[in-house]
Amino acid sequence: MKLGNYVSGECTLGGGDGEPLLDPVLGCTLATASTTGLDLAAGLRFARERGGPALRRLDYRHRGALLQEIAGILTAHRDEYYRIALENSGSPRRDAAVDIDGAIFTLKYYARQAELLGEKYLLRDGNLTRLGKDEDFQVLHVGLPIRGVAILINAFNFPAWGLWEKAAPALLAGVPVFAKPATATAWLAQRMVKDIVDAQILPRGALSIVCGKARDLMNHVTDADAVAFTGSAETAAQIRSSSSVLHASPRLNIEADSTNLAVLGPDAAPGTAEFDLIVREIVNEMTVKAGQKCTAIRRVLAPVQFQEALAEAVHARLSSIKTGNPRNKDVQMGPVVSKKQQQAVRQDIAQLRREASILFDGGPQFSPIDADPDVSAFVAPTFFRCERPLDAKTVHTLEVFGPVATLLPYRNLSEAVQIASLGQGSLVASVFSADEKAVTDMAMEMAAGHGKIHIVDASVGNTHTGHGNVMPMALHGGPGRAGGGQELGGLRALRFYHQYSAIQAPTHILQRIAERSAEPRL
Ligand code: NAP
Repeated sequence: MKLGNYVSGECTLGGGDGEPLLDPVLGCTLATASTTGLDLAAGLRFARERGGPALRRLDYRHRGALLQEIAGILTAHRDEYYRIALENSGSPRRDAAVDIDGAIFTLKYYARQAELLGEKYLLRDGNLTRLGKDEDFQVLHVGLPIRGVAILINAFNFPAWGLWEKAAPALLAGVPVFAKPATATAWLAQRMVKDIVDAQILPRGALSIVCGKARDLMNHVTDADAVAFTGSAETAAQIRSSSSVLHASPRLNIEADSTNLAVLGPDAAPGTAEFDLIVREIVNEMTVKAGQKCTAIRRVLAPVQFQEALAEAVHARLSSIKTGNPRNKDVQMGPVVSKKQQQAVRQDIAQLRREASILFDGGPQFSPIDADPDVSAFVAPTFFRCERPLDAKTVHTLEVFGPVATLLPYRNLSEAVQIASLGQGSLVASVFSADEKAVTDMAMEMAAGHGKIHIVDASVGNTHTGHGNVMPMALHGGPGRAGGGQELGGLRALRFYHQYSAIQAPTHILQRIAERSAEPRL
């Protein structure tokens, strides 16, 4: 099966053999993807000239209703998506849910947010403001949907959520979407787009997808477009330095690598609820999606005096994790996405070994359940300890994109903050502690270097949303090496797809403009 590309309002097959999409458990080819021969420039133009104006003729409420319809169609095909996730990503149901149900949840959330904006066509930022003494001449800041296309380039680990967490705010903003999923797992994203296109609920050109290599895609980006990229820091650098980005200055949002951390507070001794909660979270983050989550805990900071107990508790819990073929109902952790990724993770583990010692790696007897180790792409959960984190480099800068984390002992809170900052900017830092003052101080120290601070004590043990789960109400993104981008965060996400303009005009004109605008409550 060759995946169809939906561009210029048509389904088109790329030429040649295409790139294979594999089953990471069985090793067989499931589908191929090719963009060879596609006129990507024409596809982007079609989206700009047909999809954009058609979407912008609708108000926010109407576009929100479309998101609700999309969510309904995806829900109706959910079982099929779970099957694709199992075959193409090796996802047990728990992992598929994070991706597929996470996508549907995000779409429904933005459909509800649209109600707050109502039957309006532009956004307002603040009120009329006098520019001088004259009350009759003022300024109003308004945001209008950009006139280009949202080019959404995604990583392999979230083919469903990665697409819709970007597409939902773009479509709500009135901007057509041109999606480029990672080739290795493009099938799920492609199938979802196919289902939406077949249902004919969106205007032609509002939703396009290309499956296979990006080829010259970036050459055709214009000043009116918005590029939202998620992937490795290496590809991010290529995108940033592409000629169109340098010369046309499109909007650009980058979500890249991150060495996120979890901190055990100095008060959270073994036996406390916070100690047990961090153990559960570390193991969840290492094993959900086999650690292939941009937000996964990579570094675990623990007070020196608790490090042995924490190492033992994590060891015990990891020992009980069943890794293998997700077709077996007992299996909790699946493979990484491909043999290539398995090789990359193994190489990165070898690098970490130069600075850290292994506390757990499944041992020589590790063998995936119901899977042939020669053809499948499994990696045993691997937990390291680095004794001297302040003298280390790799543990802070190498994101091992698999089931791998490293324990880093600290002596006091200021040292913990210093160790955290060696990650050079991360998506998430979580703190497990019941010491209000210590937690508040740490949060204030670390927030500038992390997109999200997630604080857990016993009172929210069963209700907190999880270190690595991305909720649409909260901003997602991180400074520095995490890419410097921001997504989601409720209606804040719409800013990226709107151009803000200061309208300086007679007050009566500004009042007319203000009537047509909605002011998002942030
Ligand atoms: P990747 O190799 O960097 O690829 C990301 C995307 O870029 C893929 O769709 C890829 O297409 C495409 N691409 C490659 N070269 C391109 C070019 N010249 N022009 C345009 N697009 C191009 O990343 P990955 O291996 O799929 O994903 C893993 C990485 O993503 C990890 O480092 C992880 O941390 C990061 N990630 C970050 C977040 C976040 O929100 N911060 C979320 C998820 C993942 P092909 O697949 O066809 O090469």
